[in-house]
Formats: sequence, structure tokens, C-alpha cells
Amino acid sequence: MATLIESYLRLSRLFFVFNAIGDIFFKAFNLTSIIRGFVFQEHQDTASEETNNAVKSFASEAESLLYLHPTLLSSDQELFREFHDFILMCGQPMASVLVTTQQNCRQCGKTLVIDGKQHPIVIYSSHCGSYVGCRLTKLCCKCKIYEHYGCWSLNGKKHYDNQTLQLEFLQSSEDSAFEMALLEQYSNLLVVGAIPFSTYAPSYNRRFRHTYIMRVLGPGFWGTRRLAKLAVGYSNPRSQNASLYMCV
Ligand SMILES: [Zn+2]
Repeated sequence: MATLIESYLRLSRLFFVFNAIGDIFFKAFNLTSIIRGFVFQEHQDTASEETNNAVKSFASEAESLLYLHPTLLSSDQELFREFHDFILMCGQPMASVLVTTQQNCRQCGKTLVIDGKQHPIVIYSSHCGSYVGCRLTKLCCKCKIYEHYGCWSLNGKKHYDNQTLQLEFLQSSEDSAFEMALLEQYSNLLVVGAIPFSTYAPSYNRRFRHTYIMRVLGPGFWGTRRLAKLAVGYSNPRSQNASLYMCV
């Protein structure tokens, strides 16, 4: 009988199910049977003793896995937050890495090299709130062309790519970027409900629990010199050091 553990593909499909609907499918045999069919990519139209045994075996394997690793029920957002905080503790903010997909120099065609410097950047997301990522620069040592996320520079002059607005993030400054989905969400609200940014920003901060921070520090605290502090303080969103709120 085919088992769950012996296949990474089946495991990844089971993890997807845990993430999507939790462990509710253990409660009813017909639900377990359907989920097994999805995980194993098999259609079981006819009931038989062999099929029933396969479903029972699948259920006990999956339940054992969950017993040993209950964090498999964590949501994407929880895992993302854990990932974010872990890499911040390691001193490498990279929950999102903003880097161009350009591989070759647009002038001489040589392969671009990645500049070793990681620049921390605050990212405003529609689902994950605000967090610290980083941006990387690629360069052509010969032509001195610097390729950034969504733009490139030569002799100190900045040029934007045609596809800049199709990227996942829009870099709004040297140290901040907005997820395009968030901007689309806001633009729809603006059009439909005429909600000004001065209203939307506190709403966003409240949703991601930044209200307390705003009250303590005030929006004037926001500045570009504190990025190093952000990386330290963000693991506790109620800390006075954390200040990744959206400002009006
Ligand atoms: Zn070049």
C-alpha cells in the first residue's frame, strides 16, 4: 500500500490542505477519503475494503504527523511572521528580497554581478502588515550600470523599466516599498468610497496593531535613519522600538 511519508509531493499536498482547512477532515470518513484522493492524486469512485483500509492508513499517518508536528496547522501569515523574526534575529532582514530579474548588462551583455550590500527596507503589505525586507543591486563592473528593483542607473541618472508597475512591489523611497496589491486595494477604496489616505493609514495601522505605537511615538518619529532600530524592535509589535507603521 502506498504511504504518505515516502513521497515529498504527497507531503507537500497534505501540508497545503492543513494550511487551507486545518484538520477538520479527520472528523468524517468521506472527507478523509476525498482529501486522501487529493493528496495521492487518485480518484476513488468505488468503495471497497482495500479503499477503506487505504483511507484509514492515510488518516493515521496524517494524524501521527500532526501529533509530532502540531505547527503544521500554522497559517501562512504565522509562518511568515516566524520566518521574518528569525532572520531578523540573525541580522539579515530578507523576508522579501527586492532585486531585479535582469541577468545581463543592457549595454555590453555581460553577466551582472550582485553587489554584496543588503539594504534594509520597510515593506507595506496587504496581508502581512509592515515588515523589514531588503533590496539588492546588480551591477556591470565594465559599464558601471547599476540595476535596481524596477529601475537602473548610469552616471548617477536614474531610469525606470517599462515593467516597473507590473512588479510585486513599488519602491517608494530608498528604504520603503508598497506591495502593489495594497496600492490596488487602496485605490479601489479611494474610487468607491472616497477614503482619503489620512483615514486609510490609521485603519491599516489598527488592523496590524500599530495603533499603540503611533500613540506613544507619534507619526513625526518616522525617519530614514532608524532602519537599524526597526530590525531590532519589530519582533515585538507592541515594543516602543517597533515603529513600522504607515504614516500619513
Ligand atoms: Zn556592461
